[in-house]
Amino acid sequence: MKKSIVVANWKMNMGISDAHVLATEVRNGLSGIGSVEVVLCPPSIWLSEVKQIIGNKKISLGAQNMFYEPEGAYTGEISPTMIKEVADYVIIGHSERREYFGETDHDVNEKTISALRAGLIPIICVGERKEKNNIVEPVKELREALEGIPKKHFKDIIIAYEPVWAIGTGENAEAEYVAKVCNKLREFVDAETAIIYGGSVKSSNVLEYAKRPEIDGLLVGGASLRASEFIKLCKDWSDARSLK
Ligand code: PEP
Repeated sequence: MKKSIVVANWKMNMGISDAHVLATEVRNGLSGIGSVEVVLCPPSIWLSEVKQIIGNKKISLGAQNMFYEPEGAYTGEISPTMIKEVADYVIIGHSERREYFGETDHDVNEKTISALRAGLIPIICVGERKEKNNIVEPVKELREALEGIPKKHFKDIIIAYEPVWAIGTGENAEAEYVAKVCNKLREFVDAETAIIYGGSVKSSNVLEYAKRPEIDGLLVGGASLRASEFIKLCKDWSDARSLK
C-alpha cells in the first residue's frame, strides 16, 4: 500500500546530546500518532544512538546519504549494507549533495540500485535547480535515477520533489503547483510509489499540502530540528489524512 510519510532531514546538525534530546522528545510526542510513517534521518554518526532511543516505536530511521559500493577501500564512505543494519531508508540525490559534492544523475542511479539491492527504501530527491517551476528538470532527474530499474521495485521507492529554490529559503512552493508536478512524476513510476514534497514546509503551511491527495507526504529540513514544531506538523498531517 502507498505510504503516507513524513521524513525529517536533520542535515549536518545536532551534537550527540542535542540529537538525544530531539529524538526523545519526538518519540514521546508522536507516541499515539496514527496514519503516517515518520522517518528520522539524523547524521549517520548518530544513527545507532537514535535507533536506541526510538526503539521499536512507530518511528523509522533513515540515512542522509550512502555510497553505492557494498564495501572496500572507500575512505570516509558508508555502504548501503552498513546502513541496513540500523535503518530502513536512505535519502539519495539531495540537492545539497548534488551542489556541494558534485553528485550526478548517474551517481543517483547507481545509489538507488544499490540501496534497493541492500533492502533499503531510497528516497530519491529531484527538483528544478535553475529555472523556477521548470518541470523538465525534475522529470529528467527522475528518469535518469530510475534508469534500468525494473518496475516491480517502484513500490519500494519514494520520490521527493524538492524545488531547490524552496529548500531552506522560507519560500515554499504552492500546493497546487506541487500537485501538478506529482501528477507528472507519477507517469514514470506506479500507483504504489509515494511521491512527497520538500521545501520550507512548517506547521503553518502543512495543511495546504495535506489537502492535496496527489502529495503522499513531506520531506522536512529546518522545521524538523525543533521538536514541538515537528510534532505539530506530523500530527496535523496525520489528522488531515485520517479524515479522508
Ligand atoms: C530539505 O533539506 O530537504 C528541506 C526540504 O529543507 P527545508 O525544509 O529546511 O526547506
